[in-house]
Amino acid sequence: MRIIYVSFIVILFLFAGNWWAGAFGLACKLPVYYTVGQFDERFGISETEARLALAEAEAVWEESLGRDDLFTYKEDAKLQVNFIYDERQRQAEETERARDSLETREEANTVLVELHRQLVAEYHSNEVSYEERRVAYENSLDAYNAEVERYNQEGGAPPDVYKDLEKKRVQLETERIELNDLGDKLNDLSERINEIGEKGNELIGEYNERVRQFNDTFVHDEEYTQGDYRSRQINVYTFTDHRDLVLVLAHELGHSLAISHVENPSSIMYYLMGGQTSPPALTDEDLAGFTSACEQGVVGRLLAIPRMLYNTLIN
Ligand SMILES: [Zn+2]
Repeated sequence: MRIIYVSFIVILFLFAGNWWAGAFGLACKLPVYYTVGQFDERFGISETEARLALAEAEAVWEESLGRDDLFTYKEDAKLQVNFIYDERQRQAEETERARDSLETREEANTVLVELHRQLVAEYHSNEVSYEERRVAYENSLDAYNAEVERYNQEGGAPPDVYKDLEKKRVQLETERIELNDLGDKLNDLSERINEIGEKGNELIGEYNERVRQFNDTFVHDEEYTQGDYRSRQINVYTFTDHRDLVLVLAHELGHSLAISHVENPSSIMYYLMGGQTSPPALTDEDLAGFTSACEQGVVGRLLAIPRMLYNTLIN
């Protein structure tokens, strides 16, 4: 019985020592050493770029906490960061391609909408000046006709008046031709506006259909499966770009400090990606998570020992 008791204490001590250093307390005082373990080149980045992303993920925590030694890269560290390429990343890449194609279409729509807006504005401004000139022309023509009519009734105009009237007639004719040209241009413009409007409606219809397909195919409210932290291993499964990778790494580094998920969607430690700021930054909830993971009282840590042993036994 005594032997069993002693063994239990020793085992407890070993477990607890490991647990204190690894999961909670010491990790907050001593640097967490990590290294890059498995690295799959199919992610399309070099290991150097991965290390750079890790350094940025470290900085997310270290800068806010004023601790530049919270995480340290060490070739032979126990904590490995693995880049595991599988179906998840293949799907993420497919999603990204579909998103890019949607964005290209959206840009084309925007260009067309802007062109339509400009042409409509041009049409309205030309229409106003056309109307003003047309009314002025009609008035001048009426005045001219009335004057000619009057001189005809008087048996003809004197030569100097006749000369003025002839000059006026030529001016009116020139104005009529110009007004006709302007009217034709307005009609052409109107046809072009209609064509672009139809094309725009078609494109927007197609775009909306593609957005619907995209949402059906790719948008799911999934948990944070882009990466995980298990038995002193950080595994990265998917990321779309550098910023995304930094976020995933910052999140998993948080778990390596024993920080749990928090409720604020813009927190690094929120269970879903998407609502975090750019560049990534800790929220008050993340900081509180760090504090509670690192500053649990001795009683809290002791109470956690049986729970940890129980978890170890059932796993
Ligand atoms: Zn998580």
